[in-house]
Amino acid sequence: MTKIPPADHGVSTAGDAGGVDGRLPTQGGDEADGRDREVAYDVITTPVLVIGAGAAGARVAIELAESGLEPLVVGKRDYGDAHTTWAAGGINAALGSLDPEDDWPIHAADTLNEGHHLNDPEAVELTAKHMPDRIRELDEWGMSFARTDDGKINQRYFGAQSYRRTCFVGDRTGEVMLETLIDRAQALEIPYRENVMITRLLSDGTRVDGAVGFDMETGDGLLFRTNHVVLAAGGFSAAYRRHSSRDDENNGDAQALALEAGARLLDTEFVQFHPTGMVGERYGDEWDGRLVTEAVRGEGGRLYNAEVSASDASGGSEALSASGGERFMERYSPDQMELDARDVVARAIAQEVREGRGTEHGGVYLDISHRDPDYIRERLPTMVERFEDLGIDITMEPMEVGPTAHYTMGGVDIDFRTGETGVEGLYAVGEAVAGVHGANRLGGNSLAETVAIGKLVGSHVSEQVTADDDAPTVSDGQRALAEREFRALADLAASDGDVAPRALLEALGELLWTHAGILRDETGLRDGLDRLAELRARTADLRVDGDRTSRSFEYAVNLSMSLVVAEVVLRTALERTESRGAHYRTDYPETDPAWRQNLIVTADESGLSLHRRGVAEPSEPVRAALEEGYELDYHHLE
Ligand SMILES: Cc1cc2nc3c(=O)[nH]c(=O)nc-3n(C[C@H](O)[C@H](O)[C@H](O)COP(=O)(O)OP(=O)(O)OC[C@H]3O[C@@H](n4cnc5c(N)ncnc54)[C@H](O)[C@@H]3O)c2cc1C
Repeated sequence: MTKIPPADHGVSTAGDAGGVDGRLPTQGGDEADGRDREVAYDVITTPVLVIGAGAAGARVAIELAESGLEPLVVGKRDYGDAHTTWAAGGINAALGSLDPEDDWPIHAADTLNEGHHLNDPEAVELTAKHMPDRIRELDEWGMSFARTDDGKINQRYFGAQSYRRTCFVGDRTGEVMLETLIDRAQALEIPYRENVMITRLLSDGTRVDGAVGFDMETGDGLLFRTNHVVLAAGGFSAAYRRHSSRDDENNGDAQALALEAGARLLDTEFVQFHPTGMVGERYGDEWDGRLVTEAVRGEGGRLYNAEVSASDASGGSEALSASGGERFMERYSPDQMELDARDVVARAIAQEVREGRGTEHGGVYLDISHRDPDYIRERLPTMVERFEDLGIDITMEPMEVGPTAHYTMGGVDIDFRTGETGVEGLYAVGEAVAGVHGANRLGGNSLAETVAIGKLVGSHVSEQVTADDDAPTVSDGQRALAEREFRALADLAASDGDVAPRALLEALGELLWTHAGILRDETGLRDGLDRLAELRARTADLRVDGDRTSRSFEYAVNLSMSLVVAEVVLRTALERTESRGAHYRTDYPETDPAWRQNLIVTADESGLSLHRRGVAEPSEPVRAALEEGYELDYHHLE
């Protein structure tokens, strides 16, 4: 166990408990600034509060409703508008539509291999085993999966998978999947409260009995009184400067809330850098890091370095090859080529760029123009459309791409049969948690996890709810805790220093990209921690422009969450003195068998603590599949 000195987590400052009948008195400070520090708050009771309305939260809520309960779902955006809608390429299930040899143990074995055997084998097996049923269920609920000519659910290749296992709806899989889940949730009349930001769980460190937040449209405080909270609030990839996530999702809310409530975080050093994010000035800032789906490589897209000038390259792939752009994956992965694991391809690109063979924007070229334009339009409609809007015809010319922070394998440590976190009444699911993906995620497995584990968690939570949970009361202790948080939020909104929260968020993103990015080492990580302390000190000088409904305030709250995960990522990346999967230490470039251990983080008043935990062994059928050594025959694709 490594004990780490205390740190001030976050930017908000808590005042004394107080307030009468749900109203808070104005708190100190400069009255002349005209800001109203009073926060009105509503008390809302529910048997189960589901925080997050992406695929994971929606699937949990459906299961709860089907068990006869009426959970309340909250999310930061409008109903149906969650990060999940951006998932593009597909969802894995060993259906065997095209490759009948495929089976769940092979899916599990591929997942463990890709996760470099840090995964929780039980989590992997539950996901792989349940997925065929979850796909059939989504199909029954109306999800419009692509079909084969004979009417089966079609499946495509995805990186590092032995068979065609990825079910899809063009390149809009997440969007259509969430629509399907939301339709189902609406048919079950599951209540949903939009535009709610949860900022703290009511916890004494051993038990959670509610949550506190605010309505982002009115600014009013909200106290949710419940004995069961399911955290389905996503990951933390948006904390990085270049990322493929929606900017205002995936700021680390789930991990920060859970850690502060007394739960454990697991393997937070593992951040997946997707090899193909958009880079280059011609796309404009708003597109920096946005994902070019893996489906492009799945459908045969090839990567070329830039030993050709960008202007020649814009003449099309023929010009590119003719002038010497090298298909560099032949050097890194001659068998799997572009379809090797994401970490391998991302590092290969980073290496090409580092050695001067990248584009001037720090990327390489991805080209699918050798395939028939109609085929490309049919299989990759969103990509074609997006690039067309930017004046680029991907059926004729290459895209400029480079690694982008895409997914966080690390997260809340749970028991995958139940979603339990070790803090009574608190459960977690989806990208918020860690365990299925180990050191690196297999593409298509995240959507799979949301529904496979979401159903199990919903089912378990429904069994925990008792008749008393329908009308929980608000204790004095809870009220005091809640009011302290409301006052802290009021103080934060009243911040009148010189530094805009957005500027600090950007600085934090840059810090993580530079110090805890694709290539890491001890000096850089220690430096990152020093810079993090400096950055945290600057939060004393925040200036929030606008009230609690403003973007500025939202950024300030996001910053408080991202600061927590940034420290955890830097600490755990420093602690893991080996390279494995997505975590690459240039000073420890080898995988160390002794490090086949999970890294757990806990927090208390004295700061963060790190502990190691051994990894369990997979079951017999999965061991057999691992021994069989299945792998993709890349030449299927040629
Ligand atoms: C561009 C892109 C493409 C992808 N493509 C694929 C793919 O093809 N296949 C695949 O398997 N995976 C893919 N992924 C990953 C996948 O989309 C996500 O891992 C998955 O959707 C996560 O779902 P979730 O329900 O756990 O979280 P999310 O969809 O992130 O939902 C989180 C929810 O929590 C809410 N929330 C967050 N914080 C708070 C708070 N403080 N208070 C209240 N509510 C809060 C949000 O508003 C949201 O409703 C992709 C990811 C990206 C970025």
